[in-house]
Amino acid sequence: MSKIQMKTPLVEMDGDEMTRILWQIIKDELIEPFVDLKSEYYDLGLKHRDETDDQVTIDSANATKRLGVAVKCATITPNAARVEEYKLKEMWKSPNGTIRAILDGTVFRAPIIVNGIEPNVKTWKKPITIARHAYGDVYKASEMKIPGPGKCEIVYTAPDGTETRELIHDFKSAGIVQGQHNLIPSIESFARSCFNYAIDTRQDLWFSSKDTISKKYDHTFKDVFQEIYEKEYEDAFKKAGIEYFYTLIDDAVARVIKSKGGYIWACKNYDGDVMSDMIATAFGSLAMMTSVLVSPDGIYEYEAAHGTVQRHYYKHLKGEETSTNSIATIFAWTGALAKRGELDKIPELTSFAKKLEKASIKTIESGEMTKDLALITSIKDPIVLNSEGFIKVIRRNLESMY
Ligand code: NAP
Ligand code: MG
Repeated sequence: MSKIQMKTPLVEMDGDEMTRILWQIIKDELIEPFVDLKSEYYDLGLKHRDETDDQVTIDSANATKRLGVAVKCATITPNAARVEEYKLKEMWKSPNGTIRAILDGTVFRAPIIVNGIEPNVKTWKKPITIARHAYGDVYKASEMKIPGPGKCEIVYTAPDGTETRELIHDFKSAGIVQGQHNLIPSIESFARSCFNYAIDTRQDLWFSSKDTISKKYDHTFKDVFQEIYEKEYEDAFKKAGIEYFYTLIDDAVARVIKSKGGYIWACKNYDGDVMSDMIATAFGSLAMMTSVLVSPDGIYEYEAAHGTVQRHYYKHLKGEETSTNSIATIFAWTGALAKRGELDKIPELTSFAKKLEKASIKTIESGEMTKDLALITSIKDPIVLNSEGFIKVIRRNLESMY
């Protein structure tokens, strides 16, 4: 069998710990035997980030801007313990934060559905994708403890010095205040990323907020979405046979639980944070969640939603056997290869990616899986495989499809 040829390279961002181990096995077993892989490789492993003063992260994001599609391995976000462990020069920022700031994207998270791993919500048959706005609100808020009686106001000072004031509260007792903000360009690019992704994946788009209570703040989000939809996307949505609608978040929550799934739910920053954890848990496992960062100008970075699985890596270092689920990382690769195939008009590359996804799902559905899934599956007497064994069975199933 001849290998599938690529035109444009993928940006490959290698990472840390257990997922770095899986990364190499996935490439060796599932990608390179089938595809003549062209990639521009960036080592985002913490050691190399430290050696390059984190320049490698910036370079990889700029390469993604240039080439259009990236696949990323999970990476360590350093904390004090990691600074000690890796003897770091600095507590480097979260690579995902750095990349997101350069690409100005929105993160879409969707579960991978397989028979035998049933969602807790019985009606859910298709994935629910959460689109989380990644800027502002409570994550960039200023807060103050109010010690006792006194007046608290919001003050806007224009460049010419004119002030506009709004009373927050005339305190009679001690209290607390919080000042949140967001930016119209950020809300606009969030909206565009959501509309583009909906068209791309042919799914309905829901957007929810609390506009009935927050008549200026949340209402602005609603208005920005509506205006951009009508001006730029309504026709394309009609053509694709999909729908956009806005609804109050209370109503959205109720609808989600009664739905069959199969749509994108766009959420403000805090709502998206909380709801994506709820959705991931209710669908079964964090190891089965994919994540893609989509920029408003159509640049894609694919990854798994989970981290570097540190606990398993330490077992691996001690020479103990691990059973780490590689599905979300495999799907990061298939997402990126399929997108590359689509953009470069290489249908065999896209169909290879789809085949690899099928082989992965088939492996689990036929009862061979990693420990995390074996613990929750409804399949009788599942066979528990180790990290490498699982990938090798997927390869066998993939080869049987040719
Ligand atoms: P984690 O790597 O997601 O793992 C948390 C736990 O979830 C694991 O200990 C494991 O549970 C289970 N798990 C997650 N993925 C799994 C998989 N593929 N297969 C089997 N079980 C899986 O989160 P963490 O341990 O809190 O974080 C570790 C490092 O990852 C941190 O340094 C953090 O900065 C980084 N991180 C990176 C990203 C990213 O790059 N996108 C995202 C999140 C965290 P059991 O131990 O019970 O088996
Ligand atoms: Mg969260």
